Amino acid sequence: MLLINYTMDIRSKVTLKKGKEFSIQRFHPWIFSGAIQKIEGQTPDGCWVEVVDFKNNTLGFGHYQNGSIAVRMLSFQPERPSTEFWHNKIKDAVQLRLASGLPCDATNAYRLIHGEGDGLSGLIIDYYEGVAVMQAHSIGMHTDRKLIGEALQNVMSDTLKSIFYKSHATSPGKVRDVNEDEYLFGMSAVPHIILENRKKFYVDWEGGQKTGFFLDQRESRKLLADFSKRKTVLNTFCYTGGFSVYALEAGASLVHSVDASEKAVELTRRNIKLNEYDPIQHACFAMDTFEFLKDKKDHYDVIILDPPAFAKHRDARHQAVKGYQRLNVEAMKVLKKGGILFTFSCSQVVDRQLFYDTIVSAAIQAGRDVKVLHRLSQPADHPVSIYHPEGEYLKGLVLRIS
Ligand code: SAH
Repeated sequence: MLLINYTMDIRSKVTLKKGKEFSIQRFHPWIFSGAIQKIEGQTPDGCWVEVVDFKNNTLGFGHYQNGSIAVRMLSFQPERPSTEFWHNKIKDAVQLRLASGLPCDATNAYRLIHGEGDGLSGLIIDYYEGVAVMQAHSIGMHTDRKLIGEALQNVMSDTLKSIFYKSHATSPGKVRDVNEDEYLFGMSAVPHIILENRKKFYVDWEGGQKTGFFLDQRESRKLLADFSKRKTVLNTFCYTGGFSVYALEAGASLVHSVDASEKAVELTRRNIKLNEYDPIQHACFAMDTFEFLKDKKDHYDVIILDPPAFAKHRDARHQAVKGYQRLNVEAMKVLKKGGILFTFSCSQVVDRQLFYDTIVSAAIQAGRDVKVLHRLSQPADHPVSIYHPEGEYLKGLVLRIS
């Protein structure tokens, strides 16, 4: 057992304007700069601050960062966070996963920390069978990475082999330039094989996108199996080929995987091979999805559309909606009569209703009869705090297109 030998160093105080305490009392973790009345003490980016209301009552503690979201609350208690803060948060996150059946014989990779959903705004940790891949999205989490790493080692001492810190692409510009991806503890060779619903996948956290694998589609991939037997399936934006592997396992007669990235297509090919499926039943195309769909009328019974976030910020939302609409129109037009469309959006700023409305207008434009069979979301290891609805980023629909 490691010793956690540090104390929380909280020297500065942020006073909110009158009335701005209500959202914090309702446990929303973000304090926007406009809500702040005054700041006392030095506040270098990433430091911890105490947050008080206009009457000087303590509301809690969080990470400070000069910008639109000025404080990310990490504790809503009046007492100063103890030295066991990180340990307790990670332990609670592990318990939440255990309660939802993760890990298990069939699945040994899951998201361990999902930002605000686990009360840790700015932090993502994905766990790949003994390897934790940590991503900081705030300077505070970057600053505290070693403490977080120590707490992780402490809580997961039985199973943890290494911790890879991968934040070069996600941490704010100010720290990105000096921040290299590195192992905080141990070392593990890539690619590493994980199990998801008994299917095998290579994960490369060093060279791959994000933390190396999209764990958030585990349940939707499983559902795809129900629709794939003896069907022709097109998996667009395939990345590591997750949906393709499940379709082949379920007995699809033919699966085509498309991704604009050569590297992604190669990863898909390797994962198909790893699971020992007949290569004749699968083909990969390193191509733009829009281009690929152009001459594919009546080729497929099932199409999966799982694009990257078309909008990362509110100002890009309108363009993103137009992108989702165009993509879905094209897919609906080419699907065989009675075909199935799995369609997703992972843009946080496009909420469930807006996504649904976009799909309705795509259906009208495509001129097809469309029925909703399933409404999909992110799995339990990507929890959403009820006080932070913005955390529900993944939306999906399963549609029957006649
Ligand atoms: N469905 C995947 C995750 C998709 S991530 C899974 O289950 O793991 C988004 C992928 O879209 C990335 O691999 C990216 O390379 C790819 N991509 C981005 N723009 C694209 C385009 N215009 N056409 C095809 N692929 C694209």
